[in-house]
Amino acid sequence: MSIIKMLTLPTKTPSVVGSIEVKLGDTVVAEQELFTVETSKGKRPIKSDVDGIVKEIKVAIGDEVLAGDEMIIIEENAGATVAEDKAPVAEKAAEKKSADVLVIGGGPGGYVAAIYAAMNGKKVILVEKERLGGTCLNVGCIPTKTLIESANLYEKAKNLSEFGINAENISFDFAKVIKRKDGVVKNLTDGIGFLMNKHNIEVLNGLASFESDEKVLVDGDKKYEIDFENVIIATGSKQAYLGIEGEKLGSVITSTEALSLEALPKSLTVIGGGVIGMEFAFIFNSFGVDVNVIEYAPDILCTLDSGVCKLLRDIAAKRGIKISVSSKVESIKETENNMAIVTYACEGKSCVVASEKVLYAVGRTANIDGLGIENTSVKVERGAIVVDDKMHTNVENIYAIGDVTAKWQLAHVASHQGIVAVDNILGHEHEMSYDAVPSVIFTHPEIAVVGVTKPNPEKHVVSSFDFAANGKSMVMNETEGFITLIKDKESGLIVGASIIGPDASTTVNVVTLAIKEKMSEKELMATIFPHPTTGEVVHEAAMGLGIGTLHQ
Ligand SMILES: Cc1cc2nc3c(=O)[nH]c(=O)nc-3n(C[C@H](O)[C@H](O)[C@H](O)COP(=O)(O)OP(=O)(O)OC[C@H]3O[C@@H](n4cnc5c(N)ncnc54)[C@H](O)[C@@H]3O)c2cc1C
Repeated sequence: MSIIKMLTLPTKTPSVVGSIEVKLGDTVVAEQELFTVETSKGKRPIKSDVDGIVKEIKVAIGDEVLAGDEMIIIEENAGATVAEDKAPVAEKAAEKKSADVLVIGGGPGGYVAAIYAAMNGKKVILVEKERLGGTCLNVGCIPTKTLIESANLYEKAKNLSEFGINAENISFDFAKVIKRKDGVVKNLTDGIGFLMNKHNIEVLNGLASFESDEKVLVDGDKKYEIDFENVIIATGSKQAYLGIEGEKLGSVITSTEALSLEALPKSLTVIGGGVIGMEFAFIFNSFGVDVNVIEYAPDILCTLDSGVCKLLRDIAAKRGIKISVSSKVESIKETENNMAIVTYACEGKSCVVASEKVLYAVGRTANIDGLGIENTSVKVERGAIVVDDKMHTNVENIYAIGDVTAKWQLAHVASHQGIVAVDNILGHEHEMSYDAVPSVIFTHPEIAVVGVTKPNPEKHVVSSFDFAANGKSMVMNETEGFITLIKDKESGLIVGASIIGPDASTTVNVVTLAIKEKMSEKELMATIFPHPTTGEVVHEAAMGLGIGTLHQ
């Protein structure tokens, strides 16, 4: 049985049930609208999570409902009946629609572009083949960070005695950890649906594919044929495969599957020591899984400063995460008792590691599957859509943003590119600049970088400050790590920072602003940072570029 509850909204005012779209005994499918509720911010749909049959409706039209109130009970897994009940869609004629701006893909690139275009008076249609929120909200940023929150809390709880707090028998319930993650994801993705309604954006469910430069077809529950003035392609990315023997065996999982495991494996081999691989290595290690990481490059997180990588490797080693670098995976095989055997070349010999699961984290590539891009004149290079700094393709009215452009695989970059694309559609010249793009790796401690990450002694001056000398870090009992602030010798401007330590993900914001606003260390030195905060390390490092650090 699945109980569908009232959503959590950014308001404490009760909502009122406006309509009930189903009756007892109806078969429903996942994502089908069950109710509409009138909230203080407008009408909002409540959708089913599952395929099934309506067993009990617990509210009536006009009832007031608050977050978490039970609304309906659905008996799950009536899949076969549901499939039969579905109308045969293939023969239906496509419905014609038109948009000022058509957005393909409802991830952080597409949905932000859609909202921004609608806010600027455009008639917007957004097409999404799966779920609003894209990779980021459903199987990327948000679910991983929700698991990381649980993992970090568990780590902290195990060490409560260091804070003078006695707590015994600390344990965790992995199923609840996953359930909480699902709840957070649902709240946020439902929220995107709410925002689409609020901005009168028409959302069509289905696969969008180009018939030509001027026309897109949508194939989903219904078929549509869409004319548009401008289109923004925001179709994201997909798991990359390297062609390694055994990479698709049952014991090999991707990040998407790792986020929904029903039980923890005893051991895990992570292939790929990049951002996704290292975040998962820390999550699973926190929950007691024996973790091995195998990385092809000479270091994990190889785009970062070597000092940052070394400290993370040392911390990982202390926690029991085993890392092999300069190691090329050759094959994955399964034994009769379902153990995965990963064979890799390391230090000139053949090495082997056995584990219950293998996490395949070798990267993601641009996704243009089923998009019919070959029916357009849009230029594609190595599977990614080619754009200029205005996010414009080589075709007059076609733009592309986010992971599909293979520029930066970051949600906030995708969203920003969406705004740049819409500004240019509106006729307001706007170019993307990648000089001040912050990027965070949510290991423990966190790592955050912006701008130049590998300083060149001929071009840059560097100042470092340790979290060990920062009061708030001591308060938190998290003193490992440092900031490196980088200044350009010629211009005198701050051009980059690497931070590894507590709150790095938040502290990086101020350096991002400093780079974006072309500040020197003098402006940072003249800025008052609140005490005691971990962010004071920025002030200290800026002082280090000038007269010298105060507390180190
Ligand atoms: C495990 C993991 C963790 C991550 N963590 C972070 C993080 O902490 N911070 C961060 O900034 N980034 C993170 N990322 C990266 C981030 O998720 C992506 O950079 C971001 O989602 C890209 O946004 P997008 O809009 O370009 O594409 P996506 O979010 O991938 O959205 C694309 C959407 O388009 C839809 N679509 C595709 N083709 C079609 C079609 N033909 N018709 C209709 N719809 C279509 C897809 O179903 C999808 O919903 C993470 C990624 C992963 C996998």
